[in-house]
Amino acid sequence: MIPLAIPNIGKAEAANLQRCVEQNFVSTVGAFVTELEQKVAALSGTATAAATGSGTQGLHIALRALGVGHGDLVVVPSFTFIASANAVSHSGATPWFVDIGRSDWTLDPERLTEALARKTRRDGQDLVHAPTGMRVKAILPVYTLGTPADMDAIGAVARQYRLPILADAAAAIGVTYKGRPIGQLADLTVYSFNGNKTITSGGGGMIVGRDDLVKRAKHLSTTARVGRDYDHNEIGFNYRMTNIEAAVGCAQFDRLDEFLAAKKRIRETYDNAFAGVNGVSPFPAPRERGTAYWFSGLVFEGDEPPVINDLCDGLKALGVEARPFWKPVHAQPPYRHAPAENLLVTEDLWRRIITLPCSTSLTVEEQGTVIDAMRSVLAAR
Ligand SMILES: *Cc1c(COP(=O)(O)O)cnc(C)c1O
Repeated sequence: MIPLAIPNIGKAEAANLQRCVEQNFVSTVGAFVTELEQKVAALSGTATAAATGSGTQGLHIALRALGVGHGDLVVVPSFTFIASANAVSHSGATPWFVDIGRSDWTLDPERLTEALARKTRRDGQDLVHAPTGMRVKAILPVYTLGTPADMDAIGAVARQYRLPILADAAAAIGVTYKGRPIGQLADLTVYSFNGNKTITSGGGGMIVGRDDLVKRAKHLSTTARVGRDYDHNEIGFNYRMTNIEAAVGCAQFDRLDEFLAAKKRIRETYDNAFAGVNGVSPFPAPRERGTAYWFSGLVFEGDEPPVINDLCDGLKALGVEARPFWKPVHAQPPYRHAPAENLLVTEDLWRRIITLPCSTSLTVEEQGTVIDAMRSVLAAR
């Protein structure tokens, strides 16, 4: 079976892991954690970075660092991996779902402006969501497929409403936005190093952004300890990355250019292969913004798109793993009652998407097999 998206682990990762064992640094203290933080901060154009045990933990801590808590609302696209919304819930807040754009699959600044203009009012320092009386505390755009949202426009709205921005850049490592480093587009930005992301540390995440906030996030994620003894000045979290994870992450980081090139080549190969096929279009890649081409696949046009799971079953029989993409979060049981704006693009789009194998280790032959399998499954419909 040709897998959808698996890690690409080699000798450099093994050598770093060996060093962890030899030096007896296998837990949350160790040089690799600091090294990975420095590498990711430099790449992101920020002074500091804070490693976490997962991207979800990073988002949760980042929300805490921004002061988001019980009774607050955070604007989130419904078209995302559920972790973006879960992190909001973990902080005690509630997501407020706003639609995405059809051409980039990221938070639509016009829908965002409309939502804030129509549904909120100022009450002193607070921005109040009139229908629920809850305070709107942050905007959380998601860099879907590794493509930054329209951050010039979203930044302008955020300034107008005096809201901080937390960017879920889980799959966007290595991207620049109109020549600007990605860590400078939002107050805080969070990456994931889960196994299906462009680079992995086994599991892990990283927070970059404004120096004061990143330092606050680091404090909160490391039990809020002050000084060298058992003194803690607030309720912190044990959300640290281990040296073993960071060892893998550092080796992967050094291969980032190779992996990004592979992701781009894979996307372009699919795009070329299916360019002439009726009723399908490629994944979006707004090139003026930059993209990490995290996932690849096809979008089905027309009034009656095929049932994606049926296509996946057909591909499976031919030795190819394929999957639908994110199911909207507002349609999932825990979020059915969360405040939501009109989500027409989200509701229509997600049923049209199939994701195809795009591991950075995917060979030209394997991709040829995937393309042939997809063609025969399409022909059989
Ligand atoms: C992977 C992912 C996350 C979660 O990261 P974990 O490291 O798995 O916790 C959050 N948001 C998005 C958009 C993701 O793709």
